[in-house]
Amino acid sequence: MAHAYDLIIVGGGMVGASLACALGDTPLRIAVVESHPAKTEWPAESYDIRVSAITRATERVFRMVGAWQGMVARRVTPYSAMSVWDATGTGSIGFDAADLGEPDLGHIIENRVILAALLERMAQFDNIDLLCPAQVSALERDENAATLTLADGRTVTAALIVGADGANSWVREQAGITTTGWPYEQTAVVATIRTERHHHGVAYQRFMPEGPLAFLPMPEGLSSIVWSTTPERSAELIELDEQTFLAELQLAFGDKLGAMESTGPRGAFPLLLRHANRYCDERLVLVGNAAHAIHPLAGQGLNLGVSDIAALAEVVLETRRNGGDIGELAVLRRYERWRKADNVAVMAAMDGFKRLFSNDIAPLKLLRNLGLSLTDHSGPVKNMMMRRALGLSGDLPRLSRGKAL
Ligand SMILES: Cc1cc2nc3c(=O)[nH]c(=O)nc-3n(C[C@H](O)[C@H](O)[C@H](O)COP(=O)(O)OP(=O)(O)OC[C@H]3O[C@@H](n4cnc5c(N)ncnc54)[C@H](O)[C@@H]3O)c2cc1C
Repeated sequence: MAHAYDLIIVGGGMVGASLACALGDTPLRIAVVESHPAKTEWPAESYDIRVSAITRATERVFRMVGAWQGMVARRVTPYSAMSVWDATGTGSIGFDAADLGEPDLGHIIENRVILAALLERMAQFDNIDLLCPAQVSALERDENAATLTLADGRTVTAALIVGADGANSWVREQAGITTTGWPYEQTAVVATIRTERHHHGVAYQRFMPEGPLAFLPMPEGLSSIVWSTTPERSAELIELDEQTFLAELQLAFGDKLGAMESTGPRGAFPLLLRHANRYCDERLVLVGNAAHAIHPLAGQGLNLGVSDIAALAEVVLETRRNGGDIGELAVLRRYERWRKADNVAVMAAMDGFKRLFSNDIAPLKLLRNLGLSLTDHSGPVKNMMMRRALGLSGDLPRLSRGKAL
């Protein structure tokens, strides 16, 4: 049966746009349906309050799809070390890229920079149509095709629908795919902060009973903070005047970067864990936050999503090259098996960390402080953790290894 497209990606966020770029210049015809036009220009001196720590594996995917240069040309900040400590004890651990012979541990990039570079790259491919802004209104599937109806009455058909539409995925809901998860009772307050001292490429994370506080290196010695705390406390922090907010931040973080001098706008994001019980259905598949939303304490959500699309692009392209049907459930299950194990392992680890550190029980405090300090002195365990954090371990898709599809 003839389809207008081979793949329709619903959601042109960072994960959906990455998938489109990964399949650019292939025989596949692709549509990306996005409800909100992205901001691709902004005043040079302003910073996006939303940033992502991206791993080496994600950097490789961005390089392979041709979007990395666009990010570097805008602005990216490498970080070469990380310092983590427990606010309720003496336990601490430090990671240094030099111990692994790596130039850095990853990069901090504003989300709007990532998206702008991906969209710029996407526009260079003849086999991709971006339908934006476009609202979806209905989805029908049968054994031959999936048909998506847009709110303006247009219909588009494809062999496969990809749900890249975020944690509240409409595509997931249409397929009746249930999720497992719970709210964390934590909200992340984010902002860009100027401190007295330069971070010199070091990322900091302090674990407190109400949640972790991260300082991520940004250009010009600025830091982007992710301060996870109770919903009530976060509402208070957002409302405080600048000087009182900075004083509270100083109290929470300490003086590792000297005085807190100024803050840009503040934003708040409620945190939740949500995992789709299946990643696929007939002619439909989920990627990124549509499949899994996790706690941002180790900055892994986007990285997992980029690994998803690298795996899906590989499975889909290989199937097409072998003359197969890319919307067949057996094909999509290969992708699901490949990615689910990794995603569940990372989600469980993040959830465990969150519980271990958001806890004031004395024996647990002792154990975690001891654990941090012991790990800090154990070279092999620490190196293993760093390789994992760089995204360099496990069953990596070709793009994540820097290899072409
Ligand atoms: C405070 C915080 C800090 C974080 N820090 C990090 C980090 O350091 N590193 C990291 O790896 N991850 C981090 N994450 C996680 C990361 O931001 C997410 O995993 C990532 O944004 C998921 O991308 P996505 O494209 O799957 O979903 P989204 O970013 O939610 O994008 C979904 C897209 O789909 C569109 N859409 C939605 N519904 C429809 C529809 N019906 N029709 C058409 N389009 C639709 C939306 O407009 C949007 O563009 C953090 C998250 C938070 C909250």
